[in-house]
Amino acid sequence: THFGFETVAEALKEQKVRGVFSSVASSYDTMNDLMSLGIHRLWKDHFVRNLNPGRNPLTSGPSEQKGWNILDIAGGTGDIAFRMLDHASTINNDAHTKVTVADINPDMLAEGRKRALETPYARSPRLNFIEANAEKLDMIPDNSIDLYTVAFGIRNFTHKEEAIREAYRVLKPGGVFAVLEFSKVTNGLFDAVYKRWSFSAIPLIGQLVAGDRDSYQYLVESIERFPSQTEFRDMIKDAGLLVPGQGWEDLTGGIAAIHKGVKP
Ligand code: SAM
Repeated sequence: THFGFETVAEALKEQKVRGVFSSVASSYDTMNDLMSLGIHRLWKDHFVRNLNPGRNPLTSGPSEQKGWNILDIAGGTGDIAFRMLDHASTINNDAHTKVTVADINPDMLAEGRKRALETPYARSPRLNFIEANAEKLDMIPDNSIDLYTVAFGIRNFTHKEEAIREAYRVLKPGGVFAVLEFSKVTNGLFDAVYKRWSFSAIPLIGQLVAGDRDSYQYLVESIERFPSQTEFRDMIKDAGLLVPGQGWEDLTGGIAAIHKGVKP
């Protein structure tokens, strides 16, 4: 606003998000499993299988044999990145596809680097971690990325539109923007049960397991505030990305959804 309140509020939001993820970094996996009853693993598996990362040398031409250049934004602990590299290697026999994991939070990146040591990609040029804000990816050149992924990250961004514009800029023409995020439950009865679970059980689990009620309360509220499937699809369209079909796929009745857009 005129008096700069907006900027102060935005700076506070960014700081708060940083604090939340620094505080949850070490208990992140256990908490995800408890909160989602393990289902987040199935959503992530499905997300990656559906994107089918990597070039299959048997079906692509010689000029296409260099693998994909993937940017996993808000990639934190590496969950999506490791799955994409595994998929490219084992399903598509592609040993060239590379993933850059970008996250604003150094504690989440540290957790990701630590976890990478347990994968075949720890010292490989195929995996790379950078500290970056999704809204300002100056270090990533225009038209350089084949696949941009963001899983359970975008709802935390202060300026989602700017992040989508940056995604558009860095994608190659034909490149894919893919989001896995909590969404809106479509069935009224199921929604009532889900809301009860998320608003009462999740902060309690956060308190008992991680000793941190507030961070988990924030996570539940950020899910509630995130746009609906159609609103988010329209934000993707407004950024100039082409949206295939209805534009999203609901997972587990809409608890989560996958949205995709293609750069023309
Ligand atoms: N993608 C991982 C997953 O699915 O397990 C991590 C998701 S975690 C819930 C959200 C991540 O978004 C955190 O690591 C946080 O630091 C990151 N994040 C929040 N705001 C960001 C921003 N503006 N730019 C980049 N990363 C951001």
